[in-house]
Amino acid sequence: MSTEYDVVVVGGGIVGLATARALVQQRPGLNVVLLEKEQRLAVHQTGRNSGVVHSGIYYAPGSLKARYAKEGLEFLQRYCPERGIAYEQCGKVIVATDAGQVTGLDAVERRAADNGIPVERLNQAALAGREPHAAGVAALLVRSTGIVDYVGVCAAYRADAEAGGAEVVTGAEVLDVDDDGTNVTVTTSGGEERTARMLVNCAGLHSDRVARLAGLTPRARILPFRGEYYELSEGRRDLVRHLIYPVPDPSFPFLGVHLTRDVHGGVHAGPNAVLALAREGYTLGSFSRRDVAEIAPALRLLAPRAPALADGSGGVPALPAALRLRGRPAAAGARGAGRGPGARPRRRAGAGGIARRLARRRLPHRRDAARAARAQRALASRHSVHAHRERTRGPGTSQARRLTLLRSRFRPGPFKSRPTGRR
Ligand SMILES: Cc1cc2nc3c(=O)[nH]c(=O)nc-3n(C[C@H](O)[C@H](O)[C@H](O)COP(=O)(O)OP(=O)(O)OC[C@H]3O[C@@H](n4cnc5c(N)ncnc54)[C@H](O)[C@@H]3O)c2cc1C
Repeated sequence: MSTEYDVVVVGGGIVGLATARALVQQRPGLNVVLLEKEQRLAVHQTGRNSGVVHSGIYYAPGSLKARYAKEGLEFLQRYCPERGIAYEQCGKVIVATDAGQVTGLDAVERRAADNGIPVERLNQAALAGREPHAAGVAALLVRSTGIVDYVGVCAAYRADAEAGGAEVVTGAEVLDVDDDGTNVTVTTSGGEERTARMLVNCAGLHSDRVARLAGLTPRARILPFRGEYYELSEGRRDLVRHLIYPVPDPSFPFLGVHLTRDVHGGVHAGPNAVLALAREGYTLGSFSRRDVAEIAPALRLLAPRAPALADGSGGVPALPAALRLRGRPAAAGARGAGRGPGARPRRRAGAGGIARRLARRRLPHRRDAARAARAQRALASRHSVHAHRERTRGPGTSQARRLTLLRSRFRPGPFKSRPTGRR
């Protein structure tokens, strides 16, 4: 027998919890259930992110992202103290490390003005005063950027949602969705069925699969990339006073290698982007047969477009940029090779190269997983070589120089891995 609801929310990360909370607060009496496959809430992206409360400085003025970032920041500034959640408005500096980046910094400053976000321009001396260990020719200070305990925010959202009558169920993976046009019936791992008038898909890294379960054909497919971070050793944390970001390069889907503090006192440097063998694979050895089976064909599809990227003429912007990042991972930088007119040809193949090789060989489908696993191992070992060179010999590209803000006394700690994304 199936239990009936108005709305079923799939996913207990911050998006699902915020959705359930908003539904019961805006429509008192609405019968809402949130289903989360893990035993705890917020264990994936939400519990592994950098904990930054962004100002929304980069978003297109007037866009929903720009509006929500600003409203969200103002909301968290009020909400966190009320609910005893760790929050600190530590500010952020965006650093131009050479004269060539000043134009980009000017553009960010104009965008901040268009978005109504106050920023301050810092010259070299002012930057040195604020961040003595950051080397740059100019910077922008964004005072409103903060850091927060997002897991704490989720716990408070859960309490709010439950206080409004929502049911939050953990350990309940949605395995099937039956949409009859009027109602949806979801079946979870425990075999229970729940029927609702509406389903809200907040399944994060599995949202494409949940959409397919519901009979939709989403145009996007999630391919797993892992972002690895270094952590400053405890005695060196005072080297970083704000959050330190490079001037963003609009041709990349990432904000670049940055240094962030967290509310627990840690300082992280990263990320790189590593093709992962599992959507929720946070360690080098993580492997999911199902996820890998989807990766190889997707890379094959992308492979013919990769040369367009190598000559800088466009192609698929987001993913191959990530692939290229993987080719020169972490602090070793990705920007020097293969971009723009007269760029040097890439000497080492990254994941894009692996993809092209996989495509050329036309692997039988069943062997793709094993091939991809071997490719990943090869990439991983190449990665350690690069990382080692970065530490011992020093970087050779401007991207790498960004991380050298602290290089003189930087001590790499253990890797922290999270799924990658634009931060
Ligand atoms: C490396 C990294 C750093 C980031 N840094 C920041 C930052 O500093 N500041 C910021 O604002 N944002 C940051 N983000 C972005 C932010 O973390 C995400 O936008 C946000 O956490 C997404 O939340 P979510 O609820 O959509 O996904 P998730 O937190 O991944 O939650 C999805 C949930 O759905 C569950 N689920 C999946 N499938 C099912 C199923 N079939 N049945 C039931 N449950 C299911 C999962 O178990 C998971 O708990 C970062 C992201 C990454 C990857």
